[in-house]
Amino acid sequence: MVPVPHKEFRPQAVLYPPAVIGVFGSGQLGRMLALAARAMGYRIHTFSPEANSPTGQVTDREVCAPYDDLDAVRDFVRQVDVVTFEFENVAAAVAEIAAQEGVPVRPGGHVLHTTQQRLREKTFLAGAGLPVTPFAAVRSEIDLATAVARIGTPAVLKTAAFGYDGKGQARIDDAAQAGATWANIGRQEAILEGFVDFEREVSVVAARGLDGSFAHWGVIENVHRDHILDLSTAPAAVDPRTAQEAVDLARTVLEQLDVVGVLCVEMFLDRGGRLLINELAPRPHNSGHLTIEAAATSQFEQQARAICGLPLGSTELLRPAAMVNLLGDLWEAGEPDWAAGLAVPGVKLHLYGKQTPRIGRKMGHLTAVAGTIEAARENALRARTALTARATGQK
Ligand code: AMP
Repeated sequence: MVPVPHKEFRPQAVLYPPAVIGVFGSGQLGRMLALAARAMGYRIHTFSPEANSPTGQVTDREVCAPYDDLDAVRDFVRQVDVVTFEFENVAAAVAEIAAQEGVPVRPGGHVLHTTQQRLREKTFLAGAGLPVTPFAAVRSEIDLATAVARIGTPAVLKTAAFGYDGKGQARIDDAAQAGATWANIGRQEAILEGFVDFEREVSVVAARGLDGSFAHWGVIENVHRDHILDLSTAPAAVDPRTAQEAVDLARTVLEQLDVVGVLCVEMFLDRGGRLLINELAPRPHNSGHLTIEAAATSQFEQQARAICGLPLGSTELLRPAAMVNLLGDLWEAGEPDWAAGLAVPGVKLHLYGKQTPRIGRKMGHLTAVAGTIEAARENALRARTALTARATGQK
């Protein structure tokens, strides 16, 4: 079981604005955290190897250095009041250095350690009695053959470390493919999972405060395309019992991991109505972006509140909402027609300030709020289509 370092409420740990929040990672999650935290009067520093990053464009300070430049990490940590991350593949040494310097890391290094490696994460979940897909550790071709024999096909082989958005994943439909698939993912430590013929995918984005308080935005429904999140809607069209169960699972995860901050639990709802946890993200999550417009407190403001020791804000969902991602593919036929997209009622545009639109790269998103989930979904999709309608001649 994961160690539980700080259960009791520590009022001295509350950080009031203009305290400095230090973020490791510099993508869109850091950017939206920075925008929310700055609205509250906090100052933000970001650390990553990238210059003019999505986060760095809106922070007080942008430090560009590799994550393993431990002198640069120490120098960075000394100038902030709390450390957080928007990207879980940051070396555990970062959390150790912060601890040496007496700077709190929220969520703690133990959360990073558990969630940055799929085998550790699944082993933690199964050990906590939480429902997960059947899985096995794979460290050799023989392990893989044994795992395929036990779990059966279809199955999914995923690299244990550094996987996201379907990267480092391959499906195995037939035991005879196993050897080739092992070679395809680079013969590195991996996890084999049973393939879930799910009815739908859902997530619960939740937060835990320094005092152990818990808040969640209910169940969000997610549709992936090519392993990348495409569409999220809230509230999810699931029955109340399933919704309660999903929230209870999330609460258990945040408590068992002793999280301070926001964490997303991604789940499959299988055809038998059973929830299975697929993945944890120990930070604000793409499926929670719609909370910016749809909820009383966004996941980003909540992250700032939680890591600074303030009370969690209300997570009341004010209106049904839908979010669609804008990938680099949209730019293939030229600059999207922003005016056409924004002409759709209730639609808001978020662009992350990335310089080069590449295929599959998350460049921004649109959120639509409306009176019903269906109207929100339709408006978000219509707005995205309108962005490229002129270039492709579509109506
Ligand atoms: P992941 O990187 O593990 O979040 O996977 C990305 C997406 O791939 C998921 O959201 C699913 O759509 C799909 N996927 C991953 N693992 C499985 C599985 N065991 N069974 C079915 N689909 C999966």
